[in-house]
Amino acid sequence: MARRILIAGNWKMNGLEKDGLALASDLAQRMKSGSTDTFEMLVSPPFTLISKVVDTVAGSGIHVAGQDCHSAEKGAHTGDISALMLKDAGCSYVIVGHSERRTDHRETDEMVKAKAQAALAAGLNVIVCIGETLEERDAGKTLDVNRRQLHGSLPDGATADNTVIAYEPVWAIGTGRTATPEQAQEVHEMIRSELSDKLGAGAADGMRILYGGSMNAKKAGGVFAQADIDGGMIGGASLKAGAFWTIAQNFA
Ligand code: PEP
Repeated sequence: MARRILIAGNWKMNGLEKDGLALASDLAQRMKSGSTDTFEMLVSPPFTLISKVVDTVAGSGIHVAGQDCHSAEKGAHTGDISALMLKDAGCSYVIVGHSERRTDHRETDEMVKAKAQAALAAGLNVIVCIGETLEERDAGKTLDVNRRQLHGSLPDGATADNTVIAYEPVWAIGTGRTATPEQAQEVHEMIRSELSDKLGAGAADGMRILYGGSMNAKKAGGVFAQADIDGGMIGGASLKAGAFWTIAQNFA
């Protein structure tokens, strides 16, 4: 099955209105005038900019994602945001289980799965992040750790249409160190095989698995050429329209 490439920009806790909307507007213009039928683009701004970014990219085909959501529909959870609120603000996706959430907020696989299920129930698509630490890789536990996180975090009801997996080795995020194409492909191949066992060959074949971790224009070509890599989650390099666009052009 031909999987549609997804290039996702995770802005993290970056972007005040002026710069964030300029970035969104620049990307929207490029999507409208470029050759864009070969990949999909997604941006994940901070919560404060979601509605304005949704308006800014309207008509460009760019998806907008939240960076996290709570597992509850609503209620007494000060500082949190629900999946329904993201949907209401115009998001079509939400990222869950990013390693910075797992570390900073001690999110477990169980919590990530509950968030992912809340997202699906709200009608959002979900990007479920998994990835090993350097210590785990050095101890030869890479495949085991990612297998465990995948099974623990995958929402019930996951399909190729509503769920995307992002493999993001923790040691590669924001460090300038990228997995080699072979290292990334080894994990992606395992993920697809596990998805096949769990969801069936059709769903596994259609589900997109993104790579994330210090991607830049130079490194993208080799990683994206791998059979089981269906696009990328880009952090730092997604904050500059030109750099993000150049990465996406690997698929133009
Ligand atoms: C990320 O945080 O999802 C990410 C891939 O970040 P960076 O590209 O900055 O490593």
